[in-house]
Amino acid sequence: MVRRMTLAAGVVAVPLGWAQTADAGMIVDGDALLALRNLAIPVEGVTAAALRDTFSDSRQGHWHEAIDIAAPKGAKVFAVDDGSLVKLFTSVPGGLTVYQFDPQGRLAYYYAHLDGYAHGLREGMTLHRCELLGYVGTSGNAPPESPHLHFAVFRLNPEHQWWKGTPLNPYPALTGSALKAPTSKASASGGVTSSRSAQAPVLQSSKACG
Ligand SMILES: [Zn+2]
Repeated sequence: MVRRMTLAAGVVAVPLGWAQTADAGMIVDGDALLALRNLAIPVEGVTAAALRDTFSDSRQGHWHEAIDIAAPKGAKVFAVDDGSLVKLFTSVPGGLTVYQFDPQGRLAYYYAHLDGYAHGLREGMTLHRCELLGYVGTSGNAPPESPHLHFAVFRLNPEHQWWKGTPLNPYPALTGSALKAPTSKASASGGVTSSRSAQAPVLQSSKACG
């Protein structure tokens, strides 16, 4: 009898506990958060018009869930946003990679297939939008004849694990087509306000890094 009562109490307590302790920001959906970031185009010499939406392509038995930005080997790769560089990682598919969080630790930006890192790049440093990260290459599983930056965005879990998250399509944010009035959910999240939408015309003309 005691056991049954304990279980019943647990069933009720789980949803209540979640609702009471959840960070309001975690309720905001990832695409709305991303739409509010003024992402720079992370590759030297590439314009918004040149980007192709390859997020939903299938690649070797899985969804791509990233955007590939073709550029000559050695082209500069820039940070798309301000935020902490949380991990420099070398993987078989990604080659030389960088994981960066946004300033509030809600989104992760992933840069892969780099030819090399910028001098002085280190984990824990704060990056600024358009800061040099490294250079376009073919490390990992990129075809040697097709150097490109593989760029992905993840909505982080509450645990803020750099290697986990929900993939978000970066194409609208990189091209400026995601700029719009925040949803009512986003406005309620505290960290973002409707004043952002007033900056939209400025954002659209400042996507490229120097
Ligand atoms: Zn890719």
